Order: sequence, then C-alpha cells, then structure tokens
Amino acid sequence: MSKRKYDYDLIVIGGGSGGVRSARWAAALGAKVAICEEERFGGTCVLRGCVPKKMMVYGSHFADDVITSRDYGWDIEIKSHNWQEFQEKREKELSRLSGLYEKMLSSKDVTLLRGKGSFEDQHTVRVGDQLVTSENIIIAVGGRPWNPDFEGTEHTINSNQFFDLKKRPQRVVINGGGFIGVEFACLLKNFSSEVHIIIRKDTILRGFDSECAAYLQEQMKSKGIHFHTSQNIKEVKKNADGSQLVITESQSIETDAVIMATGREPYTEGLNLKAVGIETMKSGAITVNEYSQTNIENIFAVGDVTNRMNLTPVALQEGMQVAENLYGARNDWAMTYDNIPSAVFSQPPLSTVGLTEEEANQQGLNFEIYSSEFRPLKYTLGERQKRSLMKMIVEKDSRKVLGLHMVGDDSAEIIQGFAVALKAGATKEVFDQTIGVHPTSAEEFVTMREPRLR
Ligand code: NDP
Repeated sequence: MSKRKYDYDLIVIGGGSGGVRSARWAAALGAKVAICEEERFGGTCVLRGCVPKKMMVYGSHFADDVITSRDYGWDIEIKSHNWQEFQEKREKELSRLSGLYEKMLSSKDVTLLRGKGSFEDQHTVRVGDQLVTSENIIIAVGGRPWNPDFEGTEHTINSNQFFDLKKRPQRVVINGGGFIGVEFACLLKNFSSEVHIIIRKDTILRGFDSECAAYLQEQMKSKGIHFHTSQNIKEVKKNADGSQLVITESQSIETDAVIMATGREPYTEGLNLKAVGIETMKSGAITVNEYSQTNIENIFAVGDVTNRMNLTPVALQEGMQVAENLYGARNDWAMTYDNIPSAVFSQPPLSTVGLTEEEANQQGLNFEIYSSEFRPLKYTLGERQKRSLMKMIVEKDSRKVLGLHMVGDDSAEIIQGFAVALKAGATKEVFDQTIGVHPTSAEEFVTMREPRLR
C-alpha cells in the first residue's frame, strides 16, 4: 500500500450536524478521518437549537392541553411548573446525545481533536499546539447569533443564553419575528410569561407564504402575545431591581429579559481563511459551488457557514454529499434546494414545502390556489378560537402541486409526509385520487375540490 502523503484523508472542522455526518460518512466509506471541535460535539441543533427548543415546545404545551381537557369534562388544576428541574433534565439528555455523537465517531475510527481548528495552509489545520495535515478539509463551523447595535445590548441575551436561563422570566421582550423569535414567543407564552415581540415591519416570518404568516400572527395575538410592529429597539436600560426598560421609537416596555432573535451569521472568526485565500460573500458566508466546494479545490464547506438553507437536515445532506463525492461510488452529486420542507415550531406550528403564493407570482406562473380554513375537531367542544389553515398551490396547465402550507396542530408531521409527493412531482389529480384518513386534519389536503378566487 502506498504511504499517505498527509496525516489524514479528511479533516472536518466543526462537530455539529453537518460536520459529524460528513466525518462518519467518509469514515464508513474507508477514509482516514479526523474532526475537531472546540466545545461539546453536537453543534447548534443538538445543544443550542432544534433539540432543546423542541423539548421546550413539548414542555410548554402541557398547560394548553390541560385547558383543552376541561372541555372534555376533566377537572385538572395547573399548579406550577418547575423550570429548574426541567432545565436539569433537558441538560442531562443533551449531554447524553453529545456523548452519543462522540461514541458514534469513535466507533467509526474517526480521530477526535479537541480545540478550535484554523488554517495554516491548504492542507494543514492547527488545533491548539497541534498541526495536522489532510488531503481534503471540510469546514462545518455553523453560525452564531447576530444582533444590531444599540445602547445597552449588554443587558440583552441571545438564543444561546436563553437556553441556559436558571429562572423563567415572567415578562419577556423578544426582538425579531423570524423562526427563533416566533418559536420562543409561543413557548414562553404557554409557560405563562407575558410576551412582547418587537418587529421592524408589520408582519412576521418573511419568506413564508404571507397569508399563512399573517394567519399565525393573528393566532399568536389571540393567545395574548403582544406585537409591537414597525418598531426598532433604540436602547435597553437596566433598572436598580434587575429588570430592564426597553425603549423603542414610540414606547418603553418594562421587562425581566430581552431576547435578541434578529438572525444568525456564519461563524468564520478565527478560522484564518485568509491563509488559504478561501472566498467569502458579503454576509461572511463561505462561497461554494453545487458540490459544496470552495474556490480551493480540496476544501469544502457545509451547513450554516455557507448560508444556503440553514436547516439541520440540509447540512446533513451537504455533509453526505461531500463524503460521497470524495470517497463513494459517485462523484457527481450536486445539491438541489427545491421542495425542502420546513416548520416553524410555533404554537400552532407553521409548516411548508414548495412554492409560496408570492414565489409563484414572482415566477409568473399560471396557478390556482386551493385552501381550507377550519376549526379542528379537537377544539369544537370549547370556546377557544383555535383554527387551522391549509393552502395548496397548483400549476394550472401541468396540474402539478407546487406548494403546500399549513398553520395548525401537527402540521410539521403532516407536511413531512406530503413533501414526498411534491418531490415525486404529484399532480392535483393524484392528490384527489388519494383517500383521506378520517377524521384528521391531514385529509383536507386530499379533499380540497374547488380552487378559490385569487
Ligand atoms: P431569521 O432570519 O429567521 O429572522 C430574523 C428576524 O430578525 C426577522 O424578523 C428580521 O426582520 C429581524 N431583523 C433582522 N435584522 C434586523 C435588524 N437590524 N433590526 C431589527 N430586526 C431585524 O433569524 P432567526 O434568528 O429567527 O433564526 C436564524 C436561522 O436559524 C433561521 O434562518 C433558520 O434557518 C434557523 N432556525 C430554524 C428553525 C427551524 O427550522 N424550526 C428554528 C430556529 C432557527 P425582517 O423580516 O424585517 O428582515
């Protein structure tokens, strides 16, 4: 066997979803792999994002379920919630998951390098005092919270710090109406905090189907979440009692915590990309082609650091793509980003796959809209106005279903299944021929018969 020119075939910088997946996949295909990580393995999704957030969504929803149960004759009193106990249990599970990641990597003979990786040259990565060389390198360092500058930012917290709070804030101001702002607002409201959202425009969730986003915003309002639209934070002051005063253009809000949810930025700081001449975009994201390859032939980048579609399952695919193209049977796997389903885990969740009405318009398509707005059976015994909206975009000539959107309970689970149909290019007629499961909300997607006026 020929002697290796480098210490490794592949070094992965960053032990989050994309990094771990590419390292495991490459090792399983026979490559000699090392991965470096400066914190615990798991990255944003496992440690500071999707997983702890979803646990909080579940945790917060029980109070709402108890209220619904009363419509069914139950006499259950909500006494209190032990935030600290919940946080400790959650943290224990996250540590278990992080440990599992390490075990999975070790079982595939992937070398774990502890510390921050940075470039020395095209084939050399520094991890602490150690210099390691590799034929190929994948950058998978993810992103980190970003917020605008104003006086008193030091009195605010970001999404990472939110997960570490030892006590649930009774009053909360959230800045930003994207994925994180909306999800945190709903779960904190269900945990019975007083929630204020400050957004710089009128509506939340830019980029989602605007009718669905507006519908969700109304539901959030009816839950008692306070919206402060067309406002920017000018200053945050700390009061003597530890509370904060948030000052916008037109008002002041007293609160116990200010959570910034104004987006994330690629975490390229300290990577020393200049040493190799790796190109980045204005946003700081690493520029890659459809093979996730940077402008340097042997260096690749996957996940949020490339700011393509910042979702865990996308990073996983990109990680597998690079490993497959380098060490697998194929070398021509190009990423495509159409029909990727996603969900905002608001309460109720907003889930989507394919084109929005706005996108179909922008593309000049000739299309029909089918929709259904209803009160789910589960809520018909009570007085609360909990409702669902389902919407389908169909191309008129080809009859292809181009987009599905839903605001309502279980929408994430429902859209995941229907995403397969969209990926397979299903037409409206295929949907019509499909028998519904009765009684469910999901059956609406196969029983909508008449297009509505646009
Ligand atoms: P988003 O990009 O989703 O939303 C950012 C929000 O901040 C928007 O409301 C935006 O307003 C506002 N904003 C941006 N800049 C400013 C500014 N200078 N001043 C005031 N407001 C501003 O970011 P998030 O932080 O919510 O989430 C980051 C990413 O994390 C998401 O893009 C998503 O990819 C991922 N994520 C995915 C989740 C999921 O899949 N369920 C859950 C959580 C996060 P405007 O609309 O006006 O631009």
